[in-house]
Amino acid sequence: MAGGGKDFYQILGVSDKATAEEIKKSYRKLAKTHHPDANKGDPKATERFKEIGEAYAVLSDADKRKQYDQMRKLGGLGFGRGRAGAPSPGGAPGADGAFSFEDLQGGFGNISDLFSSLFDLGKKGPGAGPQAGKQRGGHVEYVVEIPFLTAITGGKVSVDVSVTEECAVCHGGGAKPGTEIRRCEECKGAGTVAFGQGGFAVKRPCPACFGRGKIPQQLCDSCQGKGSVRQQRRIEINVPVGVDTGAKVRLSGQGERGSEGGPPGDLIITFKVAPHRFFTREGLDIHVTVPINIVQATLGSKIRVRTVAGKKVVLKIPKGTQSGTKFRIRGQGVQKEGRVGDQYVEVLVQVPAELSEAEQKAMEEFADASGLKH
Ligand SMILES: [Zn+2]
Ligand SMILES: [Zn+2]
Repeated sequence: MAGGGKDFYQILGVSDKATAEEIKKSYRKLAKTHHPDANKGDPKATERFKEIGEAYAVLSDADKRKQYDQMRKLGGLGFGRGRAGAPSPGGAPGADGAFSFEDLQGGFGNISDLFSSLFDLGKKGPGAGPQAGKQRGGHVEYVVEIPFLTAITGGKVSVDVSVTEECAVCHGGGAKPGTEIRRCEECKGAGTVAFGQGGFAVKRPCPACFGRGKIPQQLCDSCQGKGSVRQQRRIEINVPVGVDTGAKVRLSGQGERGSEGGPPGDLIITFKVAPHRFFTREGLDIHVTVPINIVQATLGSKIRVRTVAGKKVVLKIPKGTQSGTKFRIRGQGVQKEGRVGDQYVEVLVQVPAELSEAEQKAMEEFADASGLKH
């Protein structure tokens, strides 16, 4: 077993700027050279073949490659078996041990979670192991930004989701149509291999056969033997009325396909409400700032204020209103599940930046009349 810190780019003999096409080309060449069948009795070739498969599984998937690149940038984090999750003594960020990958990346609990996600571990449903063949597809999670007002009124948004679909050419088998498929010698057909992680042996899909337990003698051209291809799918999502940032919806069966007839995973959408030019939101309450002039503030006035529902409400500004005063318009906030918030209007008194001669004179008269110094 290779130690931690193996570099996938090095394994595939490409630079980290390599295009998807270059990676694919190099992988195919190497996979052919180091194929266990072409190197019978040479355990090093098998080892190398396995590494190549592992590296390709990550680098050929745009999302996984991005994750890997981010992780690789952190350097010396002991990426790989046995050391996952442990900060390196070489002191990448946080030599004090307070380093958390989450700080940099967000979303991942720790390195081992990320490692798992690179290999689609821990995303499978419970029960059926690879030996059972049938496996539930992974759940796919997306954060979707929705317009501020759509979050209030509800509506629909469409999202382009990238999911793994079964390769239509080989129907998931990974073999070039009409060619032979043999048992994988690496995992003896089990589809999984064990590796140590923090003292525990964890099973993960065999990288030599992509977890299938079988190895095609000639790889399918369309998917390079993976049996699956990444595909964009446009999905329309109902935005519930009054939804706020962090709320999730689960679209059952819209995630990754299952293997060998297993049910598909779910698509989990987390909403993120986009900011609005004027309105901000706090729970069910809406806040807005409205400028008024010194005369309105001093003598009192009536102003028209828009609500999030698009209504125009007349707001009475009493005499002597100070800048920063907040007025509440009851029941004009966000409506959600039978409850409704209020809209708060903060007035900001605007002082004229420049005065005409007549205004200047009037202001001075005002000052004299009120005994104000100027
Ligand atoms: Zn295929
Ligand atoms: Zn295998």
